[in-house]
Amino acid sequence: MAAQILDGKSLAANVRAEVRTRVGALARSGVRPGLAVILAGDDPASRVYVRNKVRACEETGVHSVFVELGASVREAELLERIATLNADAGVHGILVQLPLPRHLDAAKILHAVSPAKDVDGFHPANLGALLEGSPGIVPCTPAGVMRLIEHARIGIAGRRAVVLGRSNIVGKPLALLLLQKNATVTVCHSKTAAPEAFTREADILVAAIGRPNFVRADMVKPGACVVDVGINRLPDGTLAGDVDFAAVKELAGWITPVPGGVGPMTIAMLLENCLRAAAAQASA
Ligand code: NAP
Repeated sequence: MAAQILDGKSLAANVRAEVRTRVGALARSGVRPGLAVILAGDDPASRVYVRNKVRACEETGVHSVFVELGASVREAELLERIATLNADAGVHGILVQLPLPRHLDAAKILHAVSPAKDVDGFHPANLGALLEGSPGIVPCTPAGVMRLIEHARIGIAGRRAVVLGRSNIVGKPLALLLLQKNATVTVCHSKTAAPEAFTREADILVAAIGRPNFVRADMVKPGACVVDVGINRLPDGTLAGDVDFAAVKELAGWITPVPGGVGPMTIAMLLENCLRAAAAQASA
């Protein structure tokens, strides 16, 4: 039987509607959530992501501040802009769009964002809180993946989960979130020999590696919940995920499409993080 589609677009629309309502309530109490989005450089894909984020803010009533800096921006100037935004009471969230130009030290830049305003959840204080299981801001893409898996209502506790990819922004935080929900988690990476030996055992399989159609049908356990984080531009200009969607949907229990799966949930979680950050700063 063909898999049920985990529709990130419609789930994200529900989250955004909820955020819009709560933003309205917060604004009536005198606090309008504000998000600053910093774009340094001229990467065309980053420009599209930033535009989508700013548009999503406008739709939900979050005030957005777009800070555009050229590709040759000096590190000191970027750090100064971040310091100004850290001190700005009207800005509750700060997002530095990645990747940064190569001459900038990305870790140093991300560490400069106040942890309270770090709506991407990339600051070590927030990643540390995640490791510890204490409250903090959770990175948007892993949070969106969890929301999609929870939506499938397959039960996470006791399930075998395999995460393909171990980046700091997707794979590692996602593994921690699955572990928090009592899944038995395996993380595979580029040095993993025969990843299919692990993926075939997975009740929950998440692919976040950036390799188009890497996950074939023979790598998937029948009935598994398959979440595809990958966004890959093919030579013909079309988008593909890390999962061979057409083949895998024939045997998986649940599957996310690309586009329309994890991508919209990432933006929805960003808005939620911004709302939470604003509420927390207002009550501090
Ligand atoms: P990344 O930083 O490049 O990390 C890729 C990870 O995949 C690394 O851990 C790498 O292993 C692993 N890997 C590479 N080839 C592999 C293979 N053959 N087998 C097993 N593991 C392999 O990428 P990322 O930032 O995590 O992003 C991953 C994908 O998700 C990309 O397509 C990206 O565009 C997409 N993405 C989508 C969203 C969204 O909102 N939908 C958000 C973020 C990212 P090593 O550590 O050993 O190198």
